Amino acid sequence: MEKYDLVVIGAGPSGYAAAMRALDFKKKVLLVERNRVGGAGVSNGALSSKTWWELSRETASFRKNLKRFNLQVPSINYKEIQAEVMRAVEERNTMLEEHMNLMQTSNHANLLTFKNGEARLITPTKVEITNGFSKEQVETDYIILATGSRPRYLPELPIDEKIVMTSDGIENIDDFPECMVIVGAGVIGCEYATIFSGFGKTKVHLIDKGIRILPFEDDDVVKVIERNMENSGVLIHRNSRLVRMEVKHERVEYELEYNDGSMEIFNVEKALVAVGRTPNYEDLWEDAVNISISKRGIEDKDTQTNVSNIYAVGDITADISLVNVGELEGRYAVEKIFGDPARKLLYENISTIMFLSPEVASVGLNETQAQEKGIDYKVVTLDYSCIPRAIAKRNTQGFIKLLVTNDDAMKILGLKIIGNHASSAMQAVALLISMDKGIEELAECVHPHPSITEGIQECARMLLGTSLFKPDALKNKLSCRTFTSGVYTDIFF
Ligand SMILES: Cc1cc2nc3c(=O)[nH]c(=O)nc-3n(C[C@H](O)[C@H](O)[C@H](O)COP(=O)(O)OP(=O)(O)OC[C@H]3O[C@@H](n4cnc5c(N)ncnc54)[C@H](O)[C@@H]3O)c2cc1C
Repeated sequence: MEKYDLVVIGAGPSGYAAAMRALDFKKKVLLVERNRVGGAGVSNGALSSKTWWELSRETASFRKNLKRFNLQVPSINYKEIQAEVMRAVEERNTMLEEHMNLMQTSNHANLLTFKNGEARLITPTKVEITNGFSKEQVETDYIILATGSRPRYLPELPIDEKIVMTSDGIENIDDFPECMVIVGAGVIGCEYATIFSGFGKTKVHLIDKGIRILPFEDDDVVKVIERNMENSGVLIHRNSRLVRMEVKHERVEYELEYNDGSMEIFNVEKALVAVGRTPNYEDLWEDAVNISISKRGIEDKDTQTNVSNIYAVGDITADISLVNVGELEGRYAVEKIFGDPARKLLYENISTIMFLSPEVASVGLNETQAQEKGIDYKVVTLDYSCIPRAIAKRNTQGFIKLLVTNDDAMKILGLKIIGNHASSAMQAVALLISMDKGIEELAECVHPHPSITEGIQECARMLLGTSLFKPDALKNKLSCRTFTSGVYTDIFF
């Protein structure tokens, strides 16, 4: 029986990162994947949905600027757009696979083995791999489970991945639906609402249990996103509960009950169910292995399960489901097994992007979270119209919001940017947070001009009383306040 130092099960972002990090320790690694390398980081997930989003944004912007080209609205070719997404997915998949092949002729030769198949733990040190009718078993010192997640199905909904779909089926439709309902107003539901409404061919309905979409997000951010969605034709069913959904004559009929007790019936062409993800751990181990699980996923302590040589990383665990978090955990688990991690595994300062209209980038705490934790803070906001780069882009919709501790140190608690280029502007702050630095560095660094990061610098300078624009003068574009004991107070210098 072949023997390895480490077997990694699942070659999505978490498993792939774990396997590659183990090679740095010169360990003999087996990576097993039942499908294609890349997991939901590539297809039916992060990369594919972001390619749809980019193409949708491009289409929306082209439509908006037709006057410049003296053009009428051209018809949009769904098949070409779908093919472009597939090309993006193929490009990434191929690169990940080729990298592994090329490794066999590099300095890492003979360390990494890749096998296609379904892996299952027979004992804590023995893994069985099934590929069609062939079965084999291997021995290993350590195992990392990185089998990810799949869309959550609600048993009462007739999901067939053709008419009523999840994110696994939505990318395979034949044409833009003329009307589609999305169940779930969380990040994935809102991203797809943005994508389909942006192409301008689909009337999107969005079912929202609450008074507003994205319940974990600050009010001022949600207001902009909701306004843009509604301006591009999205119908948000607020305070509504889905009581029935049926497929009738190849279309979807659904019924809502609103908080005031009234009911309403709608008929649309397609439905997308985006109500969360379910971790993939069924049938992954024999009973004797006995790994602790909760409803949300495998329970781990800093990636280590209750079985000491078995680790779990990425979406299969009960924490944040993101590519960067999965990769962080995958690398961390390997460092814990074969070395000594230089840093603790911390989740507070993870950078995230929501691909909406416009994009929303965050790191650290937002105001909602700071208030829930009972933290007093200072907060500055700056409207995008104060930033030359946004003016040059001819799109000044958006704002920057910086939260710092309510003391002289003014350590950065969080940053939120909603607007064009949001994601590329925030890394400097993410770095400062991870280095536990205050805002002086940000205020003094010479930023390139014109750039969105100049807006972040101006926020830091507002807090120090050294800004170019003064918040007490430009009240409709800037604010500089403290939040203490539930009350906002303007800061004057
Ligand atoms: C629509 C959508 C959009 C998203 N957008 C973003 C985004 O913009 N940014 C972001 O950071 N994250 C995004 N995510 C989340 C991100 O895709 C996941 O958090 C990430 O892919 C998790 O990585 P993973 O390796 O843990 O799991 P997965 O990517 O799910 O990979 C797990 C792999 O394990 C394999 N596997 C499962 N069981 C076995 C077995 N028994 N044997 C062998 N192989 C097995 C699977 O085939 C799969 O390839 C998005 C997700 C979705 C669905």
